[in-house]
Amino acid sequence: MSSSKVFSQSYAEARYRFCDAVKARGFHLETRVLEGHTGLLGEALATDATIVGDPLAPELIIVTSGVHGIEGYSGSACQLSILEDDELLRKAERAGKALLLIHAVSPFSFSYGRRANENNVDINRNFIDFSSVRPANSGYAELHPLMLPEAWPPGDQNRDAIRAYQLERGMQAFRDALSTGQQVHPEGLFYSGLEPEWSNRVLREIVGMNSASRQRAIWLDIHTGLGPYGFGEKILVDMRSNDADADGWADAKRIWGHDVVSLSAGESVSSNASGAACALLQSEFPSIDSMSLVIEFGTLSMTETLEALRFDHWVYRNRNLPNYDTLAREARKTMLKAFYPASDLWRGMILGQMRAVMEQTLAA
Ligand SMILES: [Zn+2]
Repeated sequence: MSSSKVFSQSYAEARYRFCDAVKARGFHLETRVLEGHTGLLGEALATDATIVGDPLAPELIIVTSGVHGIEGYSGSACQLSILEDDELLRKAERAGKALLLIHAVSPFSFSYGRRANENNVDINRNFIDFSSVRPANSGYAELHPLMLPEAWPPGDQNRDAIRAYQLERGMQAFRDALSTGQQVHPEGLFYSGLEPEWSNRVLREIVGMNSASRQRAIWLDIHTGLGPYGFGEKILVDMRSNDADADGWADAKRIWGHDVVSLSAGESVSSNASGAACALLQSEFPSIDSMSLVIEFGTLSMTETLEALRFDHWVYRNRNLPNYDTLAREARKTMLKAFYPASDLWRGMILGQMRAVMEQTLAA
């Protein structure tokens, strides 16, 4: 299949094609509309889902796209290629596994080309326990004025101050302070929010509806933006086994190979953030043996993606400026470049690696 065929140019197109492919297969389409908002092209915003295969199968494989909206372009393409893949669907059926595809977890940010949602919340930091008091991320508070200075583009003084922070504390400390999640700056980066967001509630509902009778589940959550260009890092976010003798880590390596990395062991390109959406399986469904993986496809350098994120948040914070529309258009272009490379080679790499992960997961 030509890689460009399953990649869309807008959320509206991606949604239309996903729903169309589900209907063409005769599968049931489950839709949750985000009320009170419309998309960039005036379209309705929704999360759509379908279950493929035996609805009562003891084993479930969940594939999610667009937890970080703009990264949904790649996740959506992977889901569409699964729906169009007769051989893969036959394999799933023969293996007695059901597939739950959840499209555009954060439809607003998919449509508007942002990573954060309609309330500037990072959905992959939003699945935290809001009933307990969390330690403030003081590291972020210190970085916030450096990340989002008064004027854009930032001057030399700002760049020097960030470089000085990185040299003094180290890159790992910089990344952790910046991106593990924060609850003090609602207009800042990697904001966890103060309550479960719409996408959080919808995801709980859809996963809940489809998980009740399962014995085993694997969640594959597709992301882009971190790591080497076109390389998909398989990040084990969490796992749970009800067999006391089981070695989950060895199982993960057996299924996906020795390049699986552990988020909690600090082996990943991603910081050890709390509140990941796919960890919902372990926290909410303890009776199911489960593993949750993020597949993170690299795009540009960390400096370049961070620069795009900073500009996007700077524009969001300055949304009352008279030239906001022009700035937002510019921010969207920068974000697309950083999270959705317009390269057939890159897109082919994404589909190929995702196909391999699906084969491995079905054989698990
Ligand atoms: Zn992401």
